[in-house]
Amino acid sequence: MATDSLVSTDIDYTQDGKQIGVLRVPQSFNTAGWANYFIPIAVIQNGSGPTVLLSGGNHGDEYEGQVTLLNLVRDIQPEQVQGRLIVLPMLNRPACVAGTRLSPLDGRNMNRAFPGQHNDTITGMIAHYVSYTLLPQADIVVDIHSGGRTLQFLPSVNMHELANQTQMSEMVRAATAWGAPYVFIYADVAGGGLLPSYAESLGKITLGTELGSAPQFGVDMLGIADRGLKNMLRMYGVLTDTPYAPPSPAPQLVAAPESADYVMAPVSGIFEPFLEMGDPVEAGQKLGQIHSTELPFADPVPVHAQTGGILFGRCGFPLTQQGACVATIVRPYTLT
Ligand code: CA
Repeated sequence: MATDSLVSTDIDYTQDGKQIGVLRVPQSFNTAGWANYFIPIAVIQNGSGPTVLLSGGNHGDEYEGQVTLLNLVRDIQPEQVQGRLIVLPMLNRPACVAGTRLSPLDGRNMNRAFPGQHNDTITGMIAHYVSYTLLPQADIVVDIHSGGRTLQFLPSVNMHELANQTQMSEMVRAATAWGAPYVFIYADVAGGGLLPSYAESLGKITLGTELGSAPQFGVDMLGIADRGLKNMLRMYGVLTDTPYAPPSPAPQLVAAPESADYVMAPVSGIFEPFLEMGDPVEAGQKLGQIHSTELPFADPVPVHAQTGGILFGRCGFPLTQQGACVATIVRPYTLT
């Protein structure tokens, strides 16, 4: 337990039943000096079994996880659980409330703040509590993401490639049980400090997701999140409402292991795509072009693929900026 954490809660992590509460994180405002910011938390526990830590709203503009987990907490009763669910539906709640990727209180990206420090800014204090109080209690960790406003994706459950093959193959088994169309092995091309990276480093069965994008938020993506999460929980026997059924068809296993699989915009401007999601891509192929907003009649700048595969991710908003990822290319992956 993180005895040096400045975060407090009335939640008792050893108690059976359903508890709804908050994490109180010290945060002063100009209008409130002695103040805490409340992060919602729920624990549903029944007897012995695995502990599953579930988070949504790590990025505030990604609402699939928030809605799925809020519904889960309302719907699931303790008698349907064998083990424990610890649920943080709005992990970076300041960003969720603002509808932004980053926290408006300290400008930070929650998914670059792990493991955090006890006397950090608010984002780092939340990360520190998760890292040192919650993750040590967890066997399975699920952090639900989508593309938000910045990216769109073919729906996937995802993870990094790990050196530990036992852990990796168990994570692929868990991800497959979800039944999203893809299981996606990704690489970090924009810094460290991710919640999933830290959980993976502790040996936890760790799953992320990328479910569409803000414009795709709707019945289909929410269905993939809700059905998939519950199916994975059934496979581990944590959710006992109905028997586990392996998904059909089985998800496709794909990977983007090279930094060149993540194509960055060479200039700022309006990205015009030439390919639809899921289209095949050859190395060297033109993926699109960028129109200058400052020299509108200048020739657009072409954006080329450096690797081949299929188009798996694309920028979620046409106006892009130099250095932003505008395309992600994946290829089939086989577990060794
Ligand atoms: Ca995200």
